[in-house]
Amino acid sequence: MSRLRYFPNRASDLQPLTPLEIPNNLKSSLLDVLTKITNKLKPVEKNGEDGLYLGTAGIAYMFYHLSKIPAFKEYHNKYLENALNYLQPALLVCKRFSIHKNDVPSFLLGNAGVYAVATAIYNAIGDGAQCNKYIELYKDAGKLCTKMHFLNCGSDELFVGRAGYLCGALWMESELKSRIFKVEDLYELCRLTVESGRKYAQQYRSPSPLMYAYYNVEYLGAGHGLCSILQYIMSVPGYLSSNPKDATDIKASVDYLLSLQDDEGNFPTAMDELGQERNDLIHWCHGAGGVVYLFAKAYLIWNEDKYLQAVKKAGDLIWEKGLLKKGPGLCHGVAGNGYVFLLLYRLTGDNKYLHRAHVFFEFLYTDEFQTNARTPDNPYSLYEGLAGTACFLADLFTPQTASFPFSDVF
Ligand SMILES: [Zn+2]
Repeated sequence: MSRLRYFPNRASDLQPLTPLEIPNNLKSSLLDVLTKITNKLKPVEKNGEDGLYLGTAGIAYMFYHLSKIPAFKEYHNKYLENALNYLQPALLVCKRFSIHKNDVPSFLLGNAGVYAVATAIYNAIGDGAQCNKYIELYKDAGKLCTKMHFLNCGSDELFVGRAGYLCGALWMESELKSRIFKVEDLYELCRLTVESGRKYAQQYRSPSPLMYAYYNVEYLGAGHGLCSILQYIMSVPGYLSSNPKDATDIKASVDYLLSLQDDEGNFPTAMDELGQERNDLIHWCHGAGGVVYLFAKAYLIWNEDKYLQAVKKAGDLIWEKGLLKKGPGLCHGVAGNGYVFLLLYRLTGDNKYLHRAHVFFEFLYTDEFQTNARTPDNPYSLYEGLAGTACFLADLFTPQTASFPFSDVF
C-alpha cells in the first residue's frame, strides 16, 4: 500500500442540503504559507533562475495574484511590494540569459514568462514606462518563435515553445485588459504551430492529425504535450473560425486525445505508452490533472457534452487518487489536482466540486500528509512548491474566478 502514488481519500462527498462555507482555518493557513516562503526563499539573484517554474519570478506571480483577491485587500499594497521585490532577481537573471537568444521566448522556464509577469506587476503599480518596456521585450522574444524549429528539442510545447509564448501573450492581454499584440502576429504563431504538428504527424504516421515531440517523446499531457499546445491555439480569439482547415485538424486531434481516456478517466503520458503498461500518473504535468483544461476549452467552444463528461470523469478519478504523495504543489501535487475541482465548479456551478476542493486543502494539514508526503526539490517554488499551494488556497476565496495559473479557459 505504501507504494501507491497517492494517499487514499477517506473523505465523503458533499451531503445533500449541507451548506458549504469557507473553511475557517483557510486564511490563517495561507498566511502561514506566505511567512514560510518569505522566510526561506530570499529575493536574491541565485534564487532568480529557472523562470516562473522554479525561480523568484514565480513568487512574484504568487504575490501579484494574491494582491487581486478581495479577501486580502488589507495586504494589497504589501503584496505588490513583495511581488516587485521577488521580480528583481529574475530580471537580473534574464539580462544574463538574453545572450542565449533561442531560449528567450521560453514562458515557464525562461525570460518571456518573467517579462509577462513584470508587465502585469508594473501595470498594477501604475508604472507605465516599465510596463511598456517589458511588453516590448516580450514582443521581441516572440520574433524568435516565428521560425518553425527555433529550438532543437521541440519548438511548440508549453514550457519553452510557442504554446507557452501564446499562453503568456493571452494572459498579458487579459491582465492589462487591452489588446497588446497584433492579431495577425498571434495568428501567425498559431499557423506555424499547426503546420509544425501536421508535418510531424505525417512524417511519423501519427493517428492524430497534429502531433508534436519534445526531446523525441510525443507527450500528451499539459507539461510538454499535445493537450496544452492545442489548448492555447484554441484560446486565441477568432483563430479557429478564420482558419477552418486548421480548426478541422485541431478538433480531430482533440477527439483523438479524448479517445485515449481510459475507463478510470486518466490519459497516457505519451504516445509510446499506448499498448504498453502505463505510468498511471495523475498530475497536472502528465495525466488527467492537466488534460482537463483542453476538454474544458473544447466544451466551451463546441458545446458538446462528451467534453464535459471527460472532465467530470477525470475529476472523479482525481477525487479518488489525486491526493499525491509528491507534495503540495501545482505541477505534480495536491494543489494542482485541487484546481481540477475549481475548474469543474466553474463549469457546472455544482457545490460538490467546491467541497472536493476544500477537502484537498484540508488534507494538506493532516498528520498523514505532513508526515508522509515528500518535500519537493524546490519547496517554495510556484510549480513544485508552496507558492503554487498559496495560489490554490487563495483561489478558494474566489471560486467564481479561480483558475490554475495561466490556464483560465473561460
Ligand atoms: Zn510535474
